[in-house]
Amino acid sequence: MTDNAEIRKIAFGKPWITAAEREAVLGVLTGDVLTHGPQAHAFETEFAAFMGDGAHCLTVSSGMAALHLAYWQLGIGPGDEVLVPAQTHVATVHAVEYMGATPVFVDCDRATGNIDVALLEPLVTPRTKAIGVVHFNGIPCDMDGVMRVAQKHDLKVIEDCALAVGARFNGRHVGLIGDAAIFSFYPVKHITTGDGGMFATRHPDLAARVAKARAFGVDRSFAERAVPGMYDVPTLGINYRMSDINASIGRKQLERISEILQRRQRNFDTLKEGLGGIPGITVIDANSPAQRQSWYCLSVVLENVNADGRNAMVSRLNAGGIGTSIYYPQPVPRLTYYRNKYGRDMALYPNATRISDQSIALPVGPHLTPDDMRHIAATFAQALRESH
Ligand SMILES: *Cc1c(COP(=O)(O)O)cnc(C)c1O
Repeated sequence: MTDNAEIRKIAFGKPWITAAEREAVLGVLTGDVLTHGPQAHAFETEFAAFMGDGAHCLTVSSGMAALHLAYWQLGIGPGDEVLVPAQTHVATVHAVEYMGATPVFVDCDRATGNIDVALLEPLVTPRTKAIGVVHFNGIPCDMDGVMRVAQKHDLKVIEDCALAVGARFNGRHVGLIGDAAIFSFYPVKHITTGDGGMFATRHPDLAARVAKARAFGVDRSFAERAVPGMYDVPTLGINYRMSDINASIGRKQLERISEILQRRQRNFDTLKEGLGGIPGITVIDANSPAQRQSWYCLSVVLENVNADGRNAMVSRLNAGGIGTSIYYPQPVPRLTYYRNKYGRDMALYPNATRISDQSIALPVGPHLTPDDMRHIAATFAQALRESH
């Protein structure tokens, strides 16, 4: 591949920033309010309308901030256990750990990479208070299965939707099935605000508590103060607000969400088809009509290789100009912090381990075309042949 005269460069992720975003930022900078103002509020209203079904949405400074607020305001703390996926971004688990609760890792389903709902109930103890799920790469979890266990044992459900903007389960936007949800607007996600996140819930009382907690716990907003500067603080809070500069970018991104999802779906379908005839690989994808996914990336599992073999394949793809990633590079219980603290037997997580060690995430973002997808598939097939 390296002797090609020109190597086509395909980035794994690339924010799609247009003149509209640049103008929006300048508009905020020339106005009077830089943070927690009309842009942040409009972004919340527009995101809630996009989700539908009575969503309450609150802008925050990151997805991690939203996760922290969710566990905190749902009252999860020391002595509590929370069932979490072994295969996820570390933030999903850090939020539980940060509250002083104990994460109980659950292996994932082999086909979708999502938490294996059949494993949940045997792990429930009198201390279990919540289930944290992640919609893996934008593929919705089996929320019927999750909610059945949650309702039976009176557990809260927190949905990590960081890669799931636009994903639906049985027609409902993910995040509105459990008690609380979070989104991330980090640059490579579906839409970006630079850094940023959204807390979402179908419970108005929880939304009201989170709204106070994210802004120092003060009892009235700037607009609600009869005497400027006068407020009281009835509860503990923190500063996790999103600035109006960031929110103005997010609003312009959200205007293009249908186009973004269409391009991602088209790219995913084209790439999956292109990889179709290649032996020894498995594409991680939704496997039931209830799941409408959001096509964050296309993860391919290489059968019969170890992590070294997978990494060699990554090197060949990268040398061929194809940007890749790994979702996720380690099952969370194998990360040094969690391994040192909990020392879990990794034999409990064979499917999470398989995805971490044997998968490659290929790009399907809106910066790419179907022709790029055919190029990725051809490069992939050639690299795999060369590795045997
Ligand atoms: C990116 C991501 C997060 C963290 O979001 P930040 O906005 O970067 O804090 C959490 N969970 C998942 C699944 C993610 O992909």
